Amino acid sequence: MTPPPLDRPAVLGAVVDDMTRCVHYRGPTDIIAIRFACCGDYYPCHRCHEEAAGHPAEQWAPEQHDTAAILCGACGHELTIAEYFAVTACPRCAAPFNERCALHRDLYFQTEPLAGP
Ligand SMILES: [Zn+2]
Ligand SMILES: [Zn+2]
Ligand SMILES: [Zn+2]
Repeated sequence: MTPPPLDRPAVLGAVVDDMTRCVHYRGPTDIIAIRFACCGDYYPCHRCHEEAAGHPAEQWAPEQHDTAAILCGACGHELTIAEYFAVTACPRCAAPFNERCALHRDLYFQTEPLAGP
């Protein structure tokens, strides 16, 4: 495996190519990696994290949505969570993102604000 270029963060887990596809999700548009709130590391998917991290995943809280936590595997651009929610393709290289990821968004992000006092 060739090491990633220095200007992009390392992606852990069962990565199968340099566009951050993994053994679980490797369709044409499965090209993003997600930084996990618990450890701050990028993984291609929640199953990679589950298998490799050795601890339960934590989800990003709504007030953390300005954190850069999405990596475009095509060009290495990092998006904030809020930016990612607003687009269906990479704003830098225009590579389309897998819209089905929205179906399991709650594995990565708290989508409802916690009930406050
Ligand atoms: Zn973690
Ligand atoms: Zn995976
Ligand atoms: Zn890109």
